[in-house]
Amino acid sequence: MDTISLVLATNNAHKVSEIRSILPKSYTFITLQEAGVLFELPETSGTIKGNAVQKAITVWEATGCSCIADDSGLEVLALNGRPGVDSAHFAGLPANPQRNLMFLLDQMEGVKDRSARFVTVIALVLEGQVYTFEGIVDGNISEVPRGGGGFGYDPVFVPEGFDVTFAEMSDVQKNAISHRAKALRALQVFLEA
Ligand code: IMP
Repeated sequence: MDTISLVLATNNAHKVSEIRSILPKSYTFITLQEAGVLFELPETSGTIKGNAVQKAITVWEATGCSCIADDSGLEVLALNGRPGVDSAHFAGLPANPQRNLMFLLDQMEGVKDRSARFVTVIALVLEGQVYTFEGIVDGNISEVPRGGGGFGYDPVFVPEGFDVTFAEMSDVQKNAISHRAKALRALQVFLEA
């Protein structure tokens, strides 16, 4: 198989690390900094899929290189799908993951049905064409944060079939079942077909 080289359209070090771990070693990744993209990528579409596409197209237009962007969100049933596309700044600006998590638990106080899901959309721009790949993992919001691994809402998300949060799992365990892994596997199948 030829080496696949992609610009990673994200400045989130956790996402970069997970993407590198999930996709095979035969893939070559170029960071935004290495690609000379030193400005903030816009995320103003109002949807997770729209934001992923917006970021990937921005990087394609700036570099002319094939690239992927990840946009993700936590959708909580009792909150009518929120925080969803607003996951990064649920508790307001400036974005603060710890404050977001505590704000979410406040909103969930006394709520019995704690079902939620994580959604990732990976947008690929390949030779100017846009493709998207979605990954979803169902689960529940815990009563209190647990675990020191992962990032973002990981300490309060218990994936279905488990009794530990993503933050209590090893990186290998999370990357085997996560929303991001599912979306990236779909991307891999497409690229290697
Ligand atoms: P965005 O995709 O960069 O807009 O991120 C959305 C928000 O969801 C950020 O606050 C992230 O911390 C959070 N987030 C994204 N992916 C994950 C994940 O895999 N686990 C926990 N939180 C995540």
